[in-house]
Parts: sequence; structure tokens; C-alpha cells
Amino acid sequence: MNRVKLHDKEFEIFITYAQINENVKKMALRISNDMKNEDVLFICILNGSFMFTAELFKEIDLEQAEVTFMRLSSYSGTDTTGQVKKLIGLNESVEGRVLVVLEDIIDTGNTIVEVLKLLKEHKPKDVKIATMLLKPEKFNNKFPIDYVGMEIGNDFIVGFGLDYDQKGRNLKDIYKIVE
Ligand code: 5GP
Ligand code: MG
Repeated sequence: MNRVKLHDKEFEIFITYAQINENVKKMALRISNDMKNEDVLFICILNGSFMFTAELFKEIDLEQAEVTFMRLSSYSGTDTTGQVKKLIGLNESVEGRVLVVLEDIIDTGNTIVEVLKLLKEHKPKDVKIATMLLKPEKFNNKFPIDYVGMEIGNDFIVGFGLDYDQKGRNLKDIYKIVE
């Protein structure tokens, strides 16, 4: 399938499953080598990262590896900033463990900054970031990212877990918007 229509927009094939799979396998190998002898908890940031997490986690070669799933929610708080974010779904003990946060895509980096801030309150030994995709332009090297699958341009993409208004998550390949 070279083109798909989701809601009002057309998307064309951009990154094939074979390319994704190759990159994710390489990342899993690096993480497995780096994390030997560590007590590692992988953290999938829902919803977009669920497919990346499944693809990566089955390639992780660490006997004690665990995975958990959480989401970042915003709600109106009484905080002066108005918007307060919180992490939902973290029931595991995190203190003293190495966390590997799994993101589908990093664009401005605002989401991951928020996630890191909230996770660090739970006193982990270390927190690493692994993202399947990075849009480097807006992110502009704000801080180091430990594991990056692929760098892409600014186009809006869908597929492999990523959505356009909830559609397209089931696509096995990644598609980019046709402007
Ligand atoms: P941030 O700008 O905070 O780094 O990116 C936040 C979130 O926006 C990502 O986790 C992802 O869910 C979403 N996002 C960024 N770029 C894209 C894109 O091209 N397609 C889709 N579907 N989501 C994106
Ligand atoms: Mg996301």
C-alpha cells in the first residue's frame, strides 16, 4: 500500500517496516549491551509507543528486564501555570532502578522533558531515553538523547503506533502527509 487516506488527509509511504525493524533491532542490541548487570525497567509512553515497545522489547536480551506502560495526562490544576501534568499508571517501584523511557517520536522535546521531571521524583538510579524517531529541527539538541532509531524531517507522520486523530496506528509501515 503506497497511499492511505485518513479522515481528510492523504499519506504516502515513508519508512518501511523492514527499515523500522532493522533500526529497532540495532537499538535493542545497544541497550542490551549497555544495561548488562542493571535492574532495568522499560517504560512505554502510551499511546503512540505501544508498537515500538513491542518490537523493541522482544529483542532485548536481558534476563531481568521488565516493561510497564504509562501515560502523561494534563489536567487543570490550581498551579499558577494552569496546566499540571501527571504520570498515570506507574505502579512499579522505581527507586534505585535504571529506567529506559520508550517514546515513539520526539519533536520539540517538551513531552519527554515533562516525563523525565516526573520520573526523577521517584528517585531512580538513572533514566535513559530511547526514541524510535527524532525530528531534530525543533528539538535543536536541547539535551542528549541516549538512543535514537532514525532522524526525520518535519513532516507529520502516521503508522506503526502513531496516529492522525486516532486513525492509522495499525499501519505496519510509516507514512508521511501529502501536502
Ligand atoms: P514533543 O513536541 O513534545 O517532542 O512531541 C510530543 C508528541 O507529539 C509525541 O510523543 C507524539 O505523540 C506527537 N508527535 C510529534 N510529531 C508527530 C508526528 O509527526 N506524527 C504523530 N502522529 N505524532 C507526532
Ligand atoms: Mg507520544
